[in-house]
Amino acid sequence: MKSLIRISLLISAAFTACAPTARFEETEATGMIWFKGVTHTHARPGETDTTVQAAAMWYKERGYRFLVITDHDTVVFPAAFTEMEDSSFLPIPGEEITAIGGGIDVEISGLNIRKSVPRVTGESVPAALSRSIALVREQGGVPVYNHPNYQWRLGAMDIAAVEDCRLFELFVGFPGVNNEGDSLHPGMEQAWDSLLTAGKRLYAVASDDAHVYRRLSADLPNPGRGWVAVLARRLDAAEILSNLDRGLFYSSTGVVIERLRVSSRRIEITVRDAGDSRFVTEFIGPAGRVLKRTADNPAAYTLSGPETYVRARITDEQGRRAWIQPVFVNR
Ligand SMILES: [Zn+2]
Repeated sequence: MKSLIRISLLISAAFTACAPTARFEETEATGMIWFKGVTHTHARPGETDTTVQAAAMWYKERGYRFLVITDHDTVVFPAAFTEMEDSSFLPIPGEEITAIGGGIDVEISGLNIRKSVPRVTGESVPAALSRSIALVREQGGVPVYNHPNYQWRLGAMDIAAVEDCRLFELFVGFPGVNNEGDSLHPGMEQAWDSLLTAGKRLYAVASDDAHVYRRLSADLPNPGRGWVAVLARRLDAAEILSNLDRGLFYSSTGVVIERLRVSSRRIEITVRDAGDSRFVTEFIGPAGRVLKRTADNPAAYTLSGPETYVRARITDEQGRRAWIQPVFVNR
C-alpha cells in the first residue's frame, strides 16, 4: 500500500511537470458590450458630395454608435457634428494626417485629437511616420495606418520599423486601395500575418474612407462597407479609443459577432445568425496557417500546440467577413 501511494505521488508530480503552461492572454470584458463605429471617412465639400452633418446623419440613422470624420490635414469637430451627440451616437474628433518620408506621401488617422498634426517630412517613411505618430500620442490620440497598399506606399517593412502604432487598415471601402494585393505585392491580410509572425502586435481595422454618399455604385467610394465593433462599458470616446488601441474589437464588412469569449485555453465565437446565411470560421495561427475551419456556431478553438497567437476570420455565403483580433499566447 505504501509503495502504491508513492507511485501515485510520483505520477502526479510527473503530470504537473508536463502540464501545459501555455495560456491565451485573457482580457477582462465583464459588462462590456459592442459599439459599432467607423474610424475613417470624409465629408469635406469639394472632396465629397456631402456635409459633416449629412455624413454623420448617414451613419447615425443606420445604427452606428460612434463616428470619426477624418478629412485631410484638418481636425473635423464642428458644432454641426458635436450637436448630434446623444445616448445613441458619439461624434469623435479626428483627422487624416499626411507624412512625407523620402518623398513618399503616407497617411495615418489621428483619432480623438483636437489639434491638427502638421505635415511631417522625414528622410524615410518610418522616420516621418514615427514623428507623426508621436504627435498624435502627445495629444492622447490613437493613430491608425491608413490603406497601406494604396499605390503600394506603405510596406510591411515600414510598419515593422515603427513603434507605438498598433492599428492598421486591413480593409478599406475605397476602390483601388489594393486590400487584396496583386501578383507582386501581398494583400493586407498576408502582410498582417507576416508582421504578427515576426512578433509585432498589430490589430486590423476595417473602414469606409467614403467620399460619395449620394450615388451608390461598386466603383465609387460609398459608405457602409467596412466598420469596427469595439467592446466597452459605455459610449465614451476615451474608453472606446483605448479599447480599440488594445485590440478589444473586431472588424467587419457585414458579418456581426454576437459574443467573443476568450478563456485561458479556448476562444469561442458566436456569430449573429440572421437565418439566411451560413458561416465558415477559420482560426489562423503564425505564418497564416489555418489551424481549424468550422461551420459550427458558436465556433471554438482550443489551444493545442506551439501557437504564439491565434486570430479568426468568419466568412458568410455572400463573401462578407469579420476579423477577430489576434489573441496572444503566454508561456
Ligand atoms: Zn481618407
